[in-house]
Order: sequence, then C-alpha cells, then structure tokens
Amino acid sequence: MPALPEYKTRILLADSKVPMVEGLFVAAGSELPSPLPKPPVYLKAQIPGATSRAAQGLVRRSDSVAKIESDLKELLSPGSWGQAEGVLIAGAVKMIGEYYAACMLEFGGTGRLPGGVLLFSTRGGSGVEERSESLRKIHFSLLNLPTAADLTRHLTGLENAHTIGSFLEGFCRTFANYKLIVLEANPIGVLEDGSLLVVDCRAEFENQAVSKTDKELFSVTSSAKEEKSRLERVVDKINEGDPAGTAFIREERALPPESAWRVATNLCGGGGKMLWEMATGGRQDIFSMNESDTSGGLSAFKSYRVLRAILEMEGSHVLLLTGSGMGFQNQYYLAAAIWKGLRESPTPLPALLRFGGTDEDKGRELIEKVAPGLPVKVKTYLPHTFPNAMVDEIGKLATKDRIKVKPTPQPEGEPSFRVTVPPGDFFFYPDKWPSNEAPPCVAACPKNVLVWNAAKHAIELAEGARCIGCLMCEVVSLLESNGELRIRLDMPEVTR
Ligand code: SF4
Repeated sequence: MPALPEYKTRILLADSKVPMVEGLFVAAGSELPSPLPKPPVYLKAQIPGATSRAAQGLVRRSDSVAKIESDLKELLSPGSWGQAEGVLIAGAVKMIGEYYAACMLEFGGTGRLPGGVLLFSTRGGSGVEERSESLRKIHFSLLNLPTAADLTRHLTGLENAHTIGSFLEGFCRTFANYKLIVLEANPIGVLEDGSLLVVDCRAEFENQAVSKTDKELFSVTSSAKEEKSRLERVVDKINEGDPAGTAFIREERALPPESAWRVATNLCGGGGKMLWEMATGGRQDIFSMNESDTSGGLSAFKSYRVLRAILEMEGSHVLLLTGSGMGFQNQYYLAAAIWKGLRESPTPLPALLRFGGTDEDKGRELIEKVAPGLPVKVKTYLPHTFPNAMVDEIGKLATKDRIKVKPTPQPEGEPSFRVTVPPGDFFFYPDKWPSNEAPPCVAACPKNVLVWNAAKHAIELAEGARCIGCLMCEVVSLLESNGELRIRLDMPEVTR
C-alpha cells in the first residue's frame, strides 16, 4: 500500500485545519532556506514508505545553526538510504503529554456497516502498539462524519474531552475527504496550555481511490535508490516469457519491526490487494514482505512460476494468497498451481489460501485433499472470509524457523513434447502407464490438446490445439493415475 511521506500528510491535515508543529519542507536539489530556522529543530528525511527512520539516522535533532546546515546537507544528499525527496524541518516543542490517534477503514460486523474507525489513546509515543489496551475505538460513518460534540461524548472520563473532540473532528475529516486507508498521528503533543498539535504523522492510501485533482499530491515517485531486487527481476523474466495476464511483485525495502510476522503475499487482483491492505494497514504485528498483483487471466503455469519466485523470498514466515474474486481466473487451475508450487519449492511456506472466483469450491477441495502430503501446513478459505479474519490466524500457522525440504524431483532430460505459449515441457513415462488405453490425463484436458497414440504408446499434441497452461492433465495424472504425465516449468535464470 503506498504511503505518503510526512510532509505530504501534513498538507492533507492542514486542509482540515488540524494543528501541527511548525514545519518547513526543503526539497532535494533546492537551495537551503535563508535564514535557517532557529534551533532546536528536528530534521526528518522524507522517504515514502520508510520506517524506523530514527534508527537509520534519518531523524536528527539539531541544536545549533551550524548543525542544522551540516545535517541538512547530508540528508539531502544520496546516502545508504538512497535519495530522499527532501527534508522536513520541524520545530521542537515542549510537551507535557503525548497522545495517539489513527483512523482506519473497517469492514463492519453484526449490526454495523463498513466505515471508519478512530483509535485514540492518551498514551502515545513510541511502543504504542504494546499498549493497545489503552486504545479507545470509535466507529464512524464515512458519509456522516462525527462532529466535535459526537467525539467528545465518546471520550468520557477525560478532563479535556472537548479539546480532544475538536482536534479529532478535523483528523477524521482529513481521513474521509482523501479516502485514505490509514491516517496516523503519533505523537500528538499536549502543550502546557492544554492545546494539542500533531508532531509526527503518516498516511497510507489506495491508488484507485485517489481523485483526479489530487493525483499530483499522491504521486509517490520516490527518487530513493531502488534497484530491482532479484525477485523482481525474476518476475520481469516470467512476464517476458509469458506476457498474458498481470504479474506484479515489488519487494518491501523497509525493515520489518522486530517482532512482526513477515508475510509473503500473493494477491490475485486489485480487489484482493486492496482487501489485504485494508486488513493490515496500521498493524505493527504484520509486515507484508512484498506488494503483489497476479491477475488478468494469467495461466496456471505463470501463477506457479510467480509463486515459486515468492517462496524464494528470504526471511518470510508465512504465505498469504487470496484468489481474484473475478470470474475469469479459474480457482481450480490456481489451486493446481499452488499445489505444484508448494510441493516443488525447496523453501515452501505455511500458507493461508483464500479462493474466490470461478470454481472456488473445487480449488479449495483440491488443496484440502492434497494438504496431508504437503511439507507445510495450509489453511483454506472461501471469499466470505475477509482477509482480516485470515490475519488473526497468521500467528497460528507462521513459523520463524524457515524449513528447507528436498522437493519432488523435476523431470530431467528432453521432454516428450513442449508448448511455447505459455512455456512448459511435458514428460510422458510409458513404464508408468502399461495399458493400451489412453491415460485419464488425456481426457482431463479442457482444450483437447493431448492425443493418445496407442500404436506408439505415447501422448502427442493435437494439431492446431492450444494449451492454456491449466495443469489439469498433471493434476489428474497424479491424483487419479500413476504420475505418468509430468510438466516441468523452468524458472528463469537470474543472477543474485
Ligand atoms: S495440455 Fe491441456 S490440461 Fe495440460 S496444461 Fe495444457 S491445456 Fe491444460
């Protein structure tokens, strides 16, 4: 999910007149401001999506003009973090307390429609995620935003409830007006006179929800150094060899929080991607190792290759896959790709698999049937389970001790025949099929691509037929027969 850097999140908050600590943004490549702001100040490098900035030295307190100048020059230049968009110079304020607030999308529940949820705590600052018991949850409608008086009523027991209610009114308005997925302010500084102001903030959004007029503000074209990772280059090669359908993967560059579950994702389609982002936005205990979108009717061959690439991602604790929910991505074929991927990967991951779309029941049935033979635990779901329910089960399946297995050996040597679009090598083992009748894999092909040649005791390709790379022939050969037909789907070779 794209994240806005703090200086842009401040623009959104300013629109609703939410009070903030004084700030001045200096863009990379521009002149240093003259005169420089009066110390002490905090300099914060602006890198979209970057987390743990303080630990990386990207947030610094400068107590003298000379230090402001030298730190500014350093943070505006390329460094180990790449190239920041610029630096936010934020004033230092004397706080007597720190509050926390966040708005998120919420799916609703029994008797409650989907809408927004406001989380508020009078105990903000670092480590707020460990103090979740202190959070007040206020559900609100996105069509009928809460007024200061409404919010005040939810803040019973707090001396300054009215001040907080007025502050949060603009906060909720910012969240709703810009159709954000997450808006977080931490800390909100409490000043000696009792007033509140945002000291640090961030926002996450979904590209498809950004209005045309706000496109420029939300364009996160980070100039941060981002060479493609090996995984991303592998996926580029998969796309080159099999261009039909979308396969997009971007590995997360930010460091995961120490205790978070690291989730490798295979999200099929923008809908699945958006649901996942809504379910995990703002959660510190779940860290998505990658963005992903595999959709647009891609073949099971391609789904398999992308999944194999995802399973190679180091450091992941669990795989989460959601089906497309779209009619044209057959979930039985997708399940065949998942089964093949999990049994042929040397580094399989325990997996939460949600099927949604054509043949979703058959897809789930297939995985349930083969699950006992897999080297990892899997749990399957149908589309009525939202990803937020899956998120709650991650801890039950995930493992920090990544297993390595000896996968099912790949067929070797020259194939019996091959198809080129999508690319795949087929191997027929006659000794595993002594009968003169056609093996069941031939009839299993939905496109009649396979022909039994009894005279030669061989399977051949039907002239003019087109293989759609669905894997049904191999599934039937393994489940209903003797494994006489195997398909080898080579992975692209990409150097580390
Ligand atoms: S030969 Fe037929 S069953 Fe096998 S992958 Fe191709 S289309 Fe699917």
